[in-house]
Amino acid sequence: MSRHSETKTNNDGAQPKAEQGSSSSEFVDERRHLRVVQDDAGRRSLVLAAPLFEQPWANRVASNAANVAFVRLQEGVDLEQVFELTGELLEECSKLTDKLAADSRAALECGAGCDHCCHLAVGVTAPEALVVHAYLQQNRSEEELNALRLELSERSEAIRGLSTAERFSPDQPCPLLKDGSCSVYPARPFACRGMNSVDRADCESRLRDPVRREAFLRTGQGGRVLLAPLVAAQAIGVGMQLALFERFRLDMRQLDLIWALDLLFTRGTDVAKGWAAGKGTFQSALGAPVTSG
Ligand code: SF4
Repeated sequence: MSRHSETKTNNDGAQPKAEQGSSSSEFVDERRHLRVVQDDAGRRSLVLAAPLFEQPWANRVASNAANVAFVRLQEGVDLEQVFELTGELLEECSKLTDKLAADSRAALECGAGCDHCCHLAVGVTAPEALVVHAYLQQNRSEEELNALRLELSERSEAIRGLSTAERFSPDQPCPLLKDGSCSVYPARPFACRGMNSVDRADCESRLRDPVRREAFLRTGQGGRVLLAPLVAAQAIGVGMQLALFERFRLDMRQLDLIWALDLLFTRGTDVAKGWAAGKGTFQSALGAPVTSG
C-alpha cells in the first residue's frame, strides 16, 4: 500500500466500482471492509473486517477516521456535515503527518517553490474535491475564477487519453500551483498531505531528468519521501472513504482532481446535491486507472 506511484492517491483498491452496463447513478462493491460492533452500553462503532495496512498503527488510524465519519453522519447526510467532517479529517491528517515527520528527525526539504511532486495526477474522492472547490470560491476573485475555469476546461480536454505516467511530466503541473506553491494549501487533498521529501534534488531530477523519470515510472521506485506520513494520509483517507461508502452509500470512487473541479465549476450545485443524495454525479470525473504508459 505504500509503494510510490505515478499518481498522488489514497486508493487502496477498496473503493466501489461502477457496475458494468449500469447507469451513472449505480455503483456496487460486494466487498465489506468495515463491521459494526456494539459495546455493553449499546454504543456502536466500526472495526476493520481485516487489516488494510501492513502497519498495525495505520489500521488504527484508518479505523479511527472511519469512526469519526460514522458518528458525524449518523444523524443524516447533508453537505454541511460532509464539509465539516472532511475539514476535520484533513486537519487531523496534517497534524499526524507533521508529527510523524518530526518523530523521524529527518530534515524535510519540502517548501515554497519546491513543486516537483505537484506534477503527478492527483486522485481525490468527492468530498475532497468539494472542499477544494469551496476554498477556491471563497479565496479567488471573480476574474481569477474565470481564468481558472478556462484553464480547468482546457486541461480537462488535454489530459484525456493520457496515461498517469504521461501525466508525470514537467509539462503537466497541477493547475492549482501558483508561483511554485499550492494555492489551496489549507484545503489540499489527503494525498498531497502525505508527501514529505528528504531530498529536494532527488525529487527534481526524478521529474526533470528523462532517464530517472523513466526509471521511476517503470519501477515505481524513486524519490526519498518519508514513508510513515504517506501511509498515515492514506489511512485517514481510506477510513473516510470506506465509512462513507459502506455505511452511507455515498459514491467514493477515485476521481481525477482536474476533472472533478472542472465538473464542479460547470455544474457545481447539481453535482454536489446529487452526490449527497447517493447518486453517481461525479461519474465523468472518475480517475484513469494507474498505468505505466
Ligand atoms: S493540490 Fe496543491 S499540493 Fe496538491 S498537487 Fe495541486 S498544487 Fe500540489
